[in-house]
Amino acid sequence: LFDALADQAAIAIERIELVADVDRARLAAEADRLRSALLTSISHDLKTPLAAIMGAAGTLRDYGGSLPASDQADLLATVVDEAERLNRFIGNLLDMTRIESGAMIPNASLHYVGDIVGAAVRRATKILTNHSIVVDIPSALPMVKLDAVLFEQVLFNLIDNAAKYAPPGSTIRIQGWADGGFLSLEVIDEGPGIPPADLERIFDIFYRVAKTDRVLAGTGLGLTICRGFVEAMGGTITAMNRSDRSGAIFLIRLPLPSETPEMDDLR
Ligand code: ADP
Repeated sequence: LFDALADQAAIAIERIELVADVDRARLAAEADRLRSALLTSISHDLKTPLAAIMGAAGTLRDYGGSLPASDQADLLATVVDEAERLNRFIGNLLDMTRIESGAMIPNASLHYVGDIVGAAVRRATKILTNHSIVVDIPSALPMVKLDAVLFEQVLFNLIDNAAKYAPPGSTIRIQGWADGGFLSLEVIDEGPGIPPADLERIFDIFYRVAKTDRVLAGTGLGLTICRGFVEAMGGTITAMNRSDRSGAIFLIRLPLPSETPEMDDLR
């Protein structure tokens, strides 16, 4: 009997090792594929603005003197805009690296969420002039523990996306409420919404919905960063579509601190 059992065990172990080998090979192939997709995507996102900068700067150097002042100004504006795009992209990549390596340690303290929404909206309205933003956050909402800098960045990314994908003249709504031990915050737009099959995938690194207009500058990093930041603060972020009309909803939920704050909550 023991011999038979030992034989069975040996066969089972062999099978497990075989499966593990296949798994290891599959994982290695998948890692290789991801690594090269990542490099292609990063190279593309770096090269596109760089090519525009080189083109505009080269034209200015060679023909600047003989061009009308307005053309010179346009070329310079291209250089500045594209350099800003590069800067944003590299900033996003750095944020991603910090999240992935676990070096993103939120500096959490108690905040009234309306203040941070206000700061993000002020920042957004400086550059997004084609949309109206309506904020509906009751002043009686409890305070919540979060990193104000990271949270403002999350809200800014969501407002920026809403403005990018929803038509000019439409309204972006931000509403907040508290229930069941959570503070919830929604950013709601009047755009095309998100195909149901992509609702979860849009948070993946470099993922963009296939039919997303490629003219819209984007890197597929914004939402990955939002999720990384929100999760680092102990919260969740999910996407859904509106049921009353077309449009996307991004819902953030943060746990409310317990009734008796600890000493370090009061800092
Ligand atoms: P990016 O906007 O740079 O492409 P994100 O990570 O911010 O990258 O978003 C990923 C994708 O999710 C976008 O390319 C777009 O297809 C989709 N998306 C994000 N926000 C919205 C929105 N408010 N409405 C419709 N689609 C959206």
